[in-house]
Amino acid sequence: MIVVMKVGTPELEINRVGEELTTWGLTPEKIVGQSKVVIGLVGETASLNPEQIQEVSPWIETVLRVEKPFKRVSLDYRHGQPSDVVVPTPNGDVVFGLNNPIVIVAGPCSVENEEMIVETATRVKAAGAKFLRGGAYKPRTSPYDFQGHGESALELLAAARDASGLGIITEVMDTADLDKIAEVADVIQVGARNMQNFSLLKKVGAQSKPVLLKRGMSATISEWLMAAEYILAAGNTNVILCERGIRTFDREFARNVLDLSVIPVLRSLTHLPIMIDPSHGTGKAEYVPSMAMAAIAGGTDSLMIEVHPNPAKALSDGPQSLTPDAFDRLIPELAVIGKAVQRWETPVPVFA
Ligand code: PEP
Ligand code: MN
Repeated sequence: MIVVMKVGTPELEINRVGEELTTWGLTPEKIVGQSKVVIGLVGETASLNPEQIQEVSPWIETVLRVEKPFKRVSLDYRHGQPSDVVVPTPNGDVVFGLNNPIVIVAGPCSVENEEMIVETATRVKAAGAKFLRGGAYKPRTSPYDFQGHGESALELLAAARDASGLGIITEVMDTADLDKIAEVADVIQVGARNMQNFSLLKKVGAQSKPVLLKRGMSATISEWLMAAEYILAAGNTNVILCERGIRTFDREFARNVLDLSVIPVLRSLTHLPIMIDPSHGTGKAEYVPSMAMAAIAGGTDSLMIEVHPNPAKALSDGPQSLTPDAFDRLIPELAVIGKAVQRWETPVPVFA
């Protein structure tokens, strides 16, 4: 349920309403929007009558039920107001959200060694990326494939962060690793394979770093939003949703089907910011540029693109990784679309 307060309601009155509703056994959450304050209520609201709540204060404009199974992540819970996820980085705050410029995240699938991660960071930063991605702990289908360097790769990410000033996005697979990952990461990634790892979701929800929640490869949109609900229910409202392609019957040419229709669908259901990952979404570097452009045209808030200094030698996901030169060429193409949708801020660098 949500309680929509009238424009101009005094702060004291909003707090009084919240306190009153707490005595009813509810958990009020104050949501400050651009013009209005909304009080979100989660708890045993089924037996409550909206009119009873309305009587608590003359400053209450309306009381509405959130009909969807996901509550805190739903657009209704914020009365239609999209939320921003603000991430502090060494180069300043970066904001993911509908009314902000598109945020580019780039980097290799895995952190392989210091030279390659620092080189990639420097190159993608120069091209306009705001975050470096790179896995220290890798979820691999085969136990015989490269599993990531683990803790030592976190130190390399920290070095790349120092060298470039970029924010760091890296994946957590095991709750036991969360604290040390959170020391280095500015955003913690929960990968497709762990989207419904509920104990992991509760743990990332109980810490303060923003979370990038990738869509499970066979997850419905409702399952994905319910997974995000776990994180918000545990206290962390800074969640970004990342579409990375879903399973297809036809893997002959593309690794997954990148579900770009999810952008308007999510927009109608949730206030959370959206990221699109055309690298895992297609599995082939040559398909990445057109899908990245389409994602911007379709209204994404952010893009995640795999970039490797030498894709042919990459320890994971080489075929879908762009070279730094290809990434340089892509950025001005993205800028054309980004400017058309009025979501491109940074000047486009000119490369020789
Ligand atoms: C990744 O980002 O490298 C990754 C493993 O992604 P996903 O979980 O989407 O497969
Ligand atoms: Mn990858």
